[in-house]
Order: sequence, then C-alpha cells, then structure tokens
Amino acid sequence: MLIRGGRIVDVAGDRVGDVRVGRDGRIAATGAGLEPLAGEEVVDASSCLVVPGGVDAHTHLQLPVGDVRVSDDFRTGTAAGAVGGTTTVVDYVTAYRGEDPLEAFATWRRWAEPASVDVGLHMTFTEAVSEATVAACVEQGVTSFKLYMAYPQTLQVDDGVIVDVLRAAGRHGGLVTVHAENGGAIEALRRTALAEGRTGVFEHSRTRPALLEGEAVSRVGVLAEITGAPVYVVHVSSAPALAAVREARRRGVDMLAETCPQYLELGAELLERADGDSFVCTPPLRDPWHHEELWQGLSDGTVHTVATDHCPFSVADRRAGLRARPEGWVDFTEIPGGLPGIETRMALVWEGAVAGRITVADWVRLCAEAPAKTFGLWPQKGSLLPGADADVVVWDPSLRQRLDADALHMRTDHSPYAGRAVSGWPRLVLSRGRAVARDGRYVGEPGWGRYVPRSPRPGARG
Ligand code: MN
Repeated sequence: MLIRGGRIVDVAGDRVGDVRVGRDGRIAATGAGLEPLAGEEVVDASSCLVVPGGVDAHTHLQLPVGDVRVSDDFRTGTAAGAVGGTTTVVDYVTAYRGEDPLEAFATWRRWAEPASVDVGLHMTFTEAVSEATVAACVEQGVTSFKLYMAYPQTLQVDDGVIVDVLRAAGRHGGLVTVHAENGGAIEALRRTALAEGRTGVFEHSRTRPALLEGEAVSRVGVLAEITGAPVYVVHVSSAPALAAVREARRRGVDMLAETCPQYLELGAELLERADGDSFVCTPPLRDPWHHEELWQGLSDGTVHTVATDHCPFSVADRRAGLRARPEGWVDFTEIPGGLPGIETRMALVWEGAVAGRITVADWVRLCAEAPAKTFGLWPQKGSLLPGADADVVVWDPSLRQRLDADALHMRTDHSPYAGRAVSGWPRLVLSRGRAVARDGRYVGEPGWGRYVPRSPRPGARG
C-alpha cells in the first residue's frame, strides 16, 4: 500500500510525503514522490495527517470487578480502539493475593487471543513477591509492574513492598507503575462518611481529595529516589499530584507521569447529576481548574503520556453495583469505578492540538511515541521509521464524530462525552499493514492482534 501526499508527523519530523507499507506488514519507506508499484493500493492522504498508530498503555479489558465485569473484552475493546486510531494496547494483568502472577499472565494471554490489534501486558502485584518472579515476568515480555498505594482490602501494598519491587524491577530492566493515592487516609474518610450517613455518589469524590493523591506521588518519588529506580505514575488527575511530579523531577528522580482524557475534560460536578454514578472513576474527576493545569503539564513535558484507564461498565451494572444487587448499590463504596475511553482518546487529545494547548507533534508523542518508548515497544511501535510495524493512522481533521454511545463501538450503553462531537477522526487505520478501520467502520479481524513481548529497559542486569 502507498499512502500518498499526507502530512506525516512522527519522531522523524513533520513533513508532507508518502508512506509505503510493505507486504511484510512493516513500513518499507517514507519520502516525497514515491511512485506506486504494480498492484499496490494507493491511498490519497492529501488534507490528512499520517501518524503512527496510537499506543494506549493503560486498559482494563474483560476484568472482573466485584460481582460484575467490565463490559468490553479484548475482542470488542480492541476493535473500538482501532476505530479511534489505537493499534496497540497494554492491559493490566492483576495477580490477586495468593495467586501465581505467571498463572494470571496465562489467563490474560488467553483472554487477549481475540484482539484485533497488538496487545502487551503489565503485571500488577498485590503483595510481596520474590525477585525471581519479577525476573520471570521480564522473561515473558512483561517489563512493567503496577503497585497500588490505595485499596487496602484488596490491592494496596505497603511502602516496604514498593521499595522491594522498585529495586527488583530496576535490576531487571522493569518499570514500576503506581496508582498513587493515600489508601489508608482515604479509608478513614470513607468510614467517616458512611458513619455520618453520607452515602451519595459525590462522597466518592469528597473522600478521595487531590491532596491525598499529591501526598502519594510525593512519597513514591522519595521511594524511587532512595532506590535509584525509575517510576511511572498512572492517571495523574490533579494539580497537587502534578506539583509532586515536578518536585520529584527537579530533584533528579526519574519519574514519568500519565494522565487520561477524563482528567482533562470532565469535571467533578458530573457526579452530582442524576446519572452521577456513571461518572465514578478513581482517582475521581476533579474541578475544572485542574484540567488547565494538566494541559499545561502535557505541554511542558511534566506529563509524559496520555492513556485511558479504559474500564467500561453497562449502566445496569453500575446501578447494580459491585455486589450486583437487584435493588441497586446502597452507598458510594459499591459503585464500580471506571470510564470507557479507548476509542475516544486520540480525538480528545487532538482537540487540544486544534485549540493550541499542545502541538501536533506533542499529540503524536503523548499518544504513541512516548508510551512505546517507555514500555519497551520501541522501535517496533510508535513511529513510521522504516522497519517499524506498519501501524498507521490516516487522520482526517475534517471528519466530524459524535461521541454519544450509539455513535461509538465500545460495548457500553453510555458515554461520558454524550452530546459532544469532535473534529478529527481516523479515515484509515492499519495494524501491521492490515486495515482494521476505514471511515469510522471497524474492518478488522478478531485474532489478528498478537501478544507483543516488551523489551527491558537498557542498562539493567537482565
Ligand atoms: Mn487502571
């Protein structure tokens, strides 16, 4: 295939030219004035951008949550991602306490078989693990490890475990990602709210204040500093957390930060609506002034990637709650948390480029290049360099797309962006050279996606 005359934007620059996709599913060449070969499909990309396929480094597909389950599996979630321009997802495996992480990994590998685009996997540890386990994960191409500083009953680990895993991961070329909120303090606020009879949706937000996110980012920055290991903070949602990232980086800590479109776009006031339980996610949505701070952080490099934390539920499951009660959840602690987003990420961040909050090059870097580099997918993913996988998005800034649930492909019956439309959507999306979406329609094939083992960070002992 020859994609002609587009504005190509990737690590090699911003220029008008052509992209040739080889029969092997890799980028064969980029340049100006490439002539079609016999039998080659020619795609006219004039008036479009041609960019590397998006890399969404934070998804939860098929995940059981309490007595319900996220509504997208790997088949539907990756198809929706493809339509929106995402051609690689890195999903979080969770090894619950007492479970063998490698067995959990095998489960997720099986779940991921019907994926339409390539899939990498992170590993979540919920208790102390041996260094041999960390090494065994790296061996399987799982080179990043998530630790929770919140949810003490199920997921949280203490600072000692964080230090141990930071050290072990550092030695084996792994990267630790953290959910940074002070779980102990949040539990106290939740207990108080329930004891005082404050059970409504908004209490979800009130009991998880931004200061407790900032505190956890600050603390993990210190733990990273004393171990000399890098650390990546997932879903940074607030100004205090952003300030803590800046402060750690100022001291020379190798701290990377991710945010998600919901923290750039959606305000805490949504939790006060009648359907407020459809907007519960963790960290919670913040007041709009935080959005401006986060856009600034994206622009100045403090925030390194934009992922989604895609974790959709049906409206019925949200109402039923984590205990799946026919009469519905009884207080805010039973509402399943998480929002759909895998399909809308590229377009929502593009809007920031259109508005001049970030540059077009920032958009490509934040959504594709930086996550690929950070998570050991580079140079296979995240660029249009010759030899890279031909994961390509032909992005048409003039395509208008509604963000209501019925106009999208994610398997959920609500959309946090309902009533809104964006300008800019993929005209064509390729995964390893194969079309997976055309003109907003999914044209891929379940099972086309492969598991992508990820590389350890260079310089580690291995
Ligand atoms: Mn998550």
